[in-house]
Amino acid sequence: MSKSIKTKSFGYPKIGENRELKQALDSYWAKKISKEVFIKQVESINYTRMKKQKDFGIDSISSNDFSLYDFILDLSTMFGIIPQRFSDLSDDFDLYFSMARGNKQSAASEMTKWFDTNYHYIVPEIEGKLKIIKNRPLESYKWAKETLKIETVPNIIGPFTFIKLAKGYPRKDFAKLLFEVSNLYNEILKELEENKVKTIQIDEPALVLDLEDKEIDYLIKCYNIIKKNLKHLDIHVQTYYESLSYYHDIVSRLPVNGLGLDFTINNENLKNVKKYGFPKNKKLIAGVVSGRDIWKVNYEETTELIEELINITGQTDLIISNSCPLFHLPISTEKEKDNLQPELIKLLSFADQRLDELNTLKAIINKGNAIPYQNIKSIQKNFENKKVLKETSKIQENDIGRLARFAYRSQKQQERLNLPLFPTTTIGSYPQTTEIRKIRANYKKGLISKTDYDIFIKNKIKEVIELQESIGLDVLVHGEFERSDMVEYFGQKLDGFAFTKNGWVQSYGSRCVRPPIIYGDVFRSKKMTVDEVVYAQSLTEKTVKGMITGPVTILNWSFFRKDISKKEIAFQIALALKEEVLDLESSGIKIIQIDEAAFREGLPLKKAKQKDYLDWAIKAFKITNEDVQAETQIHTHMCYSEFNEIIASIYAMDSDVISIEASRSKGEIIESFEQLNYTHGIGLGVYDIHSPRIPSIEEIETIIERSIKVIDKKLFWINPDCGLKTRGYDETIKALENMVTAAKKARKNYKKLTVQ
Ligand code: GLN
Ligand code: ZN
Repeated sequence: MSKSIKTKSFGYPKIGENRELKQALDSYWAKKISKEVFIKQVESINYTRMKKQKDFGIDSISSNDFSLYDFILDLSTMFGIIPQRFSDLSDDFDLYFSMARGNKQSAASEMTKWFDTNYHYIVPEIEGKLKIIKNRPLESYKWAKETLKIETVPNIIGPFTFIKLAKGYPRKDFAKLLFEVSNLYNEILKELEENKVKTIQIDEPALVLDLEDKEIDYLIKCYNIIKKNLKHLDIHVQTYYESLSYYHDIVSRLPVNGLGLDFTINNENLKNVKKYGFPKNKKLIAGVVSGRDIWKVNYEETTELIEELINITGQTDLIISNSCPLFHLPISTEKEKDNLQPELIKLLSFADQRLDELNTLKAIINKGNAIPYQNIKSIQKNFENKKVLKETSKIQENDIGRLARFAYRSQKQQERLNLPLFPTTTIGSYPQTTEIRKIRANYKKGLISKTDYDIFIKNKIKEVIELQESIGLDVLVHGEFERSDMVEYFGQKLDGFAFTKNGWVQSYGSRCVRPPIIYGDVFRSKKMTVDEVVYAQSLTEKTVKGMITGPVTILNWSFFRKDISKKEIAFQIALALKEEVLDLESSGIKIIQIDEAAFREGLPLKKAKQKDYLDWAIKAFKITNEDVQAETQIHTHMCYSEFNEIIASIYAMDSDVISIEASRSKGEIIESFEQLNYTHGIGLGVYDIHSPRIPSIEEIETIIERSIKVIDKKLFWINPDCGLKTRGYDETIKALENMVTAAKKARKNYKKLTVQ
């Protein structure tokens, strides 16, 4: 049987090889370049990325998968979903960027995490009627045709996913709104057809979530509306990040011409294809190279997979593609040649390498080219560490955790720490001024000696200890001046991690991150934080809190190995951190905070898988501190407030004190404590650190008063929402002074009340 499979790519990174998009945005926002120049610059970035896919010889290239800031914001502004507070802005860019970032008068729209990725989108706030303002997919299609002379497949996020993610409407109106917006999609698609577009890709990642039966019916109806009166335009629905839910139902009933499935994330889609088959009247777009992880494709296995799919579907012209948008990957490993070890580079694939893999697979299948020889397993062996493997194998999972119970521990801790009622503290970092960033950068470049750098950091620690004493805080921190990032810092000190030079991945808008790569067994060969914290403690009578990042957060913010389970990696990191915790304790540190800012981020999309994740994530956290004495107080910190659904798990982490974000949820989180029985120490953030605004004493008092109505006073801590790293000193000092004053007033009030 002769085969002629085709390649397809979508969601290629938008940031540019050298983060040109970030530079263009920053210059435009700073009014250093005009709107015209800005448009030219971004068009050139988009041109380069599309040209690259063309030059790679990809058969089907996407358009409208570029965005100035966020693709959901693109949709909102396309459908006239403009919050009232921005309605007076006449310039389209002013409006767009104000919604994204806020302006002098109005707060930005809410931003939140996109599925289980580290990308963040601007949440649509639906008010009033929707209408079409512009047809972005068409504009983008035409632009590509004119400038690059290519026929593209415009991409658009689908109505089902869009309405599911939107806010501002009662949930009972979901179907009504879905059908309303489906009519607009129909208009958009009709116009595409008139302009001779052949295929549109509609992304519906929400179809991998747990859905209700009635939602499937809505979905089918919605696509019937979308395709009304269309004659030639092919609709391909793309799903990713997990296996399609309700496979049989959706595959057989969804009235579209093609369906994209992710075959890299796990084997569930394949199992379903085998079990239920695939309809003859639909094209399968097989996501066979990962858009999410950075490991080279296994050609042998993937060739087999493609052959199998061709056999089952009978589609000799199968389309193979990346499994999910490629923007979760850095652009190319080429840039890392003189940075990462060659043995490691051999294992890696970033976005460009994925395009290459698609080509190679196509040639293997269509032309019968030889499967490239790969000895992945033996290369990986080089990164093994026998000692680590032995240690992890010794973990007795039923036995993890501290021996002493909380009641006993808290009594011992109070005897030792002698803290006042409502103790005040901060989350760890203090403002990272330009001076600090510059010195750290110069040190990295070798322009400053280690001795000079250490002296500089010590001086900063000294200053911040004095500052905290003068403000009157109860539990002090060392300020984290030696860290640029809470995960990177530990990754650089631990073995088994690698760092890219240019492996930028968009987190939101112009913000990019370079996730560390966990490639080998993780272990600690040197102390990581002890010197700084011990030095800080030597300067004061008050207690200084040790500060480390937890295992689950380190894992969730890194690219991780695929040859062992996430749980095993988490346990390896946990064992390494445990050594640090014990070293801190034996050096006289009485409180140790283990940050788990990204604990919730790793929560699987499908409910059925969440229990297993939470189970090992809790264990990993507990391993880090299970051997400390009862009188050592363990804190943890989490950066979000939506944890009602996982509160039991957070409780099970058994930390003595937890601090969480609360001020932005406007009291919602406090109310939820009426139902929750959380009986360990807890600090609900009393002010928002994301804004330079200084909270008044009264405001903080109100939050305290409200909180202690539902939380036991003896358990309540007073702290800001998160670290102070992004703030300036002026506002930080004033805010903390107000916080301390409010705490003192609360102490006084409470004492008075008990005397009466
Ligand atoms: N200790 C860290 C800090 O204060 C915590 C940061 C975070 O939770 N994202 O910066
Ligand atoms: Zn935080």
